[in-house]
Amino acid sequence: MLPTAVLERAQRELPDWQGLGMSVMEMSHRSDEFVHVAEQAETRLRQLMQIPENYRVLFLQGGASLQFSAIPLNLLAAGRTADYIDTGIWSQKAIEEAGRFGQVNVAASSREQQYRTIPEQSQWQLTPQAAYLHYTPNETIGGLQFDAVPDITADIPLIADASSCILSAPLPVARFGLIYAGAQKNIGPAGLTIVIVRDDLTGKAQSATPSLLDYAAQAKNGSMINTPPTFAWYLAGLVFEWMQEQGGVEAMQRLNQQKAALLYDYIDQSGFYANPIDRRYRSIMNIPFTLPHAALEKPFLQQAAVVGLLNLAGHRSVGGMRASIYNAMPLEGVQALVAFMQDFAGRHSA
Ligand code: PMP
Repeated sequence: MLPTAVLERAQRELPDWQGLGMSVMEMSHRSDEFVHVAEQAETRLRQLMQIPENYRVLFLQGGASLQFSAIPLNLLAAGRTADYIDTGIWSQKAIEEAGRFGQVNVAASSREQQYRTIPEQSQWQLTPQAAYLHYTPNETIGGLQFDAVPDITADIPLIADASSCILSAPLPVARFGLIYAGAQKNIGPAGLTIVIVRDDLTGKAQSATPSLLDYAAQAKNGSMINTPPTFAWYLAGLVFEWMQEQGGVEAMQRLNQQKAALLYDYIDQSGFYANPIDRRYRSIMNIPFTLPHAALEKPFLQQAAVVGLLNLAGHRSVGGMRASIYNAMPLEGVQALVAFMQDFAGRHSA
């Protein structure tokens, strides 16, 4: 979801941005006006996440998936090894892609636990001089979330794929070498990818790295080596402004915890629905759940849609149901879902 207030503002500003007689979509990305829009968005993101001065914020394209390649291209020099923690489908994809560019060590995996838990950090097989450690703080499909930032030696850059949890709760940016996220969950429309990278990690890319993927080149050019996704960047800025009005990331976290607790509590006591994830590591963003029989899934989705509850099908790779309750989902949305689930269970219990 995007906040309704943001959609309405974008609608108002669509044909005529601030009396300029044109849409943001129609502006040159090199115009003073768009450069202002772009800088404002960055400033707001820096304020929201308290990003230290020695980090660059890049507004890129290609999704989080292209960062699976950009990260090793920039940071995995020949002869070095990168450590990855495997907690689900998205970390697997990151691992697979990195393997095309260099030496990868899967330092820990919960694959044998069907990705229902996070491997204990004391069991991780870390490489002493690893180029970096990559992990996925929130596995979007599995609904599995780290409860803390991994505690590793400061000289190894920690990298997080925060696609589905960025801005959902405060993150100590200074403990990371790099944080990246596709925008389409908590930030704005698809087409924009945020990369927050510490200065000293730029400028080391492998020589064949395309300049569009080279963090130093993008930083030097204000993420405008070529035409950036201007409208998505503008909308991201509106979402950042909305978040600040709501009270910032702490307020988002309080609301997210409240929404998630409401849904998990209901699922757990329902005797009808089930969530299989280790309770210590349940996601506050993505809540998968199953029904007693697969045959009930279609009627569940159809009837939910009738009352305006949409996008509840689990990822095609795992099936079941999944409620993604990102920042912009209001508490009332989760209350409506729980009320529907109660009603549905009442009508379909044996
Ligand atoms: N990582 C995670 C954790 C994701 O949730 C997703 C998208 N669902 C991706 C990577 C891939 O993102 P994109 O589609 O922006 O490439």
